[in-house]
Amino acid sequence: MLRLITDFDGPLMDISGRYYHVYQLCLEKAQQPKQKIHLLSKSDFWELKRDRVSEEEIGRISGLEAEQAQAFAKLRREIVHDLSYFIYDQIIPGSLEALWKAQKMGYELVVMTMRRRRELEAAFQEHHLERFFPLERCYCLSNDSIKTTDIQDKPKLMDKAQKELPPVEDTWMVGDTEADIAAAKKHDIKVIGVLSGIRSRQQLEKYQPDYLVANLAEAVDLISNLV
Ligand SMILES: [Mg+2]
Repeated sequence: MLRLITDFDGPLMDISGRYYHVYQLCLEKAQQPKQKIHLLSKSDFWELKRDRVSEEEIGRISGLEAEQAQAFAKLRREIVHDLSYFIYDQIIPGSLEALWKAQKMGYELVVMTMRRRRELEAAFQEHHLERFFPLERCYCLSNDSIKTTDIQDKPKLMDKAQKELPPVEDTWMVGDTEADIAAAKKHDIKVIGVLSGIRSRQQLEKYQPDYLVANLAEAVDLISNLV
């Protein structure tokens, strides 16, 4: 038995559209009438996110005063996970085909995400993802759990999975952030970082994934070439 554990946002889902939409909304709310601000382009905004620039700093770069930037960051935190904005998320091209290919190669698929269950279910319904991930192979946050930080929460989710899932001969993990890499390394699971998500190459390299590739399709290709 073989297993591929994949993160959701980053390898499968492109959330840059939602994050940029919410950035624009929060900037609008935080600014004074007639205040000159500097609206970042989507690609400039996303590059800052990929370089882990804080929301407050992004507010300041966009022309907000320090206090406004604080309010901007607070509002952003409060609304970025509102279900109404998930319509701006997009499936990453080629990722569903990659899941299909991994399944054909004999890999059992597991999804491991910091999304809350309702946030995951919304995407599952839209893209019929239950064909890849049965309910008992979905590791996410419950609707009422308190989030801490991904780097703390993700390894906990991996602990749970390792306890519950039957042992297999070979496991791979794919993810787009340091939290995924930390979760995999804690359990000596081979981990492939993908650059299709919210971290730049420079950021991900610091955490030394076993491999670093463009996206999930390349990750599955890599696995198929290695086994
Ligand atoms: Mg992710």
